[in-house]
Amino acid sequence: MKYEIVMGLEVHVELATNSKLFCGCSAKFGAEANENVCPACAGMPGMPAVTNKKAVELGIAAGIITNSEIAKTMTFDKKNYFYPDLPAGYQITQLFAPICRNGWVEIETEAGKKKITLKQIHIEEDAGKLVHDSHTGTTLVDFNRTSVPLVEIVSNPDFRSSDEVIAYLEKLRSLLSFANISDCKMQEGSMRCDVNISAREAGSNKLGTRTEIKNLNSLKAIAKAITYESQRHMDALETGSETLIQETRRWDDNKGETFSMRGKEDATDYRYFPNPELMPVVIGDEWISAVRAALPEMAHEKFARLTGQLGLSEYDSRIITGSKNLSEIFDETTRYFNNPKEVANWIIVELLSIATGDNKGEDDIAIDRKKFAKLMELVDQKIINRNVGKKLLVKVLEEGIDPAAYVEENRLGMVSDADVIRKAVLEVLSEDEKSVNEYKGGNQKVLGFFVGKVMKKLDGKADPKIVNALLAEHLAK
Ligand SMILES: [Zn+2]
Repeated sequence: MKYEIVMGLEVHVELATNSKLFCGCSAKFGAEANENVCPACAGMPGMPAVTNKKAVELGIAAGIITNSEIAKTMTFDKKNYFYPDLPAGYQITQLFAPICRNGWVEIETEAGKKKITLKQIHIEEDAGKLVHDSHTGTTLVDFNRTSVPLVEIVSNPDFRSSDEVIAYLEKLRSLLSFANISDCKMQEGSMRCDVNISAREAGSNKLGTRTEIKNLNSLKAIAKAITYESQRHMDALETGSETLIQETRRWDDNKGETFSMRGKEDATDYRYFPNPELMPVVIGDEWISAVRAALPEMAHEKFARLTGQLGLSEYDSRIITGSKNLSEIFDETTRYFNNPKEVANWIIVELLSIATGDNKGEDDIAIDRKKFAKLMELVDQKIINRNVGKKLLVKVLEEGIDPAAYVEENRLGMVSDADVIRKAVLEVLSEDEKSVNEYKGGNQKVLGFFVGKVMKKLDGKADPKIVNALLAEHLAK
């Protein structure tokens, strides 16, 4: 390896507050354009701003879970620039006294464990959104997102591969979502990532010319953009084909390349200065302790509980604790049907395969926990067989049926009457002598074929244990 890639990350995460950072407008995603705007967040001069306490608390929580030093006093600053999505002409952020400094996050890749160190975490407000209408050739501004609270998590240039970057983003997403700091939905923009990247000769201590890649909104795009940009840097160093300049570049996912957006600014370009309209926020030890005590169970703690107390396998526990949503479905469903192994099995084998078929991610699955539990109980009590249970699961997910009522209305109860099943077995065997002979000739696989036939005759409702036993009995004759 002649060259080494050096990367640092800036990750923006929208905080899970109900209201915006300095006014009472709703911070909810997905409202009608400009529904959540007031004179304060629309940047009207002279409007009083009041800091959202919940946003500060979530900032403290972000500091705790990233092993950061939390400031005794934090202040807000103005970052001045003009852009149509920024009505005030400045963004309120933190430069001089951010809420957190010097944290670290441990990641794990195939190469092993590594600590990624953090320079700082600061709270800031988001900007609005420009909506380009190609039909009329105009651009509209939506201020709903203006002043929605964010934290920006700034790492040191500790990354050497895209694997490390992806592992870090996944770790951050797990930490932040389990702590209820953010839902971290990249597709809705509540987690966004900019990558600072440079290349240098392996072993050198000097940093090369760096570029910043913006507009990265999926892990796939991030990995591809890093690969492309690394190669561009190395080619430039190797062949002198182009001179690298410090700039901001955008990733074009369709073309699979980065392109120049603007020259990279330095802090001096923004003329940061302390915001005189906002009071400093004093963060006492008691406040930090209270936030720490209120933190919910984190993924690694849940993993320990699932593998320990509940006796689940490491494999199953890793899948369930890999997603905040799945782990909530698991916890709440076991409250109604206290069989953790069975619940885990149904989630991993059935629920996830339905979601994959529907092109849904783990975090998009929505299911009524009580109905899900009831369905497993019906199978457990042998009121229905597992196959009927699987079909019901689809109906619970898509139509929200009540499993018990549906089973009764549609007569889906399990057939366990041996005489009824024996009749079907004898019919199936007499209809297909060829397969019977194949079985007797040593082809064991034919048994599964017969099970399917018998099940079909009984509308899929028979007790599979009895079907298997009776088939074995009659085939042995
Ligand atoms: Zn407002």
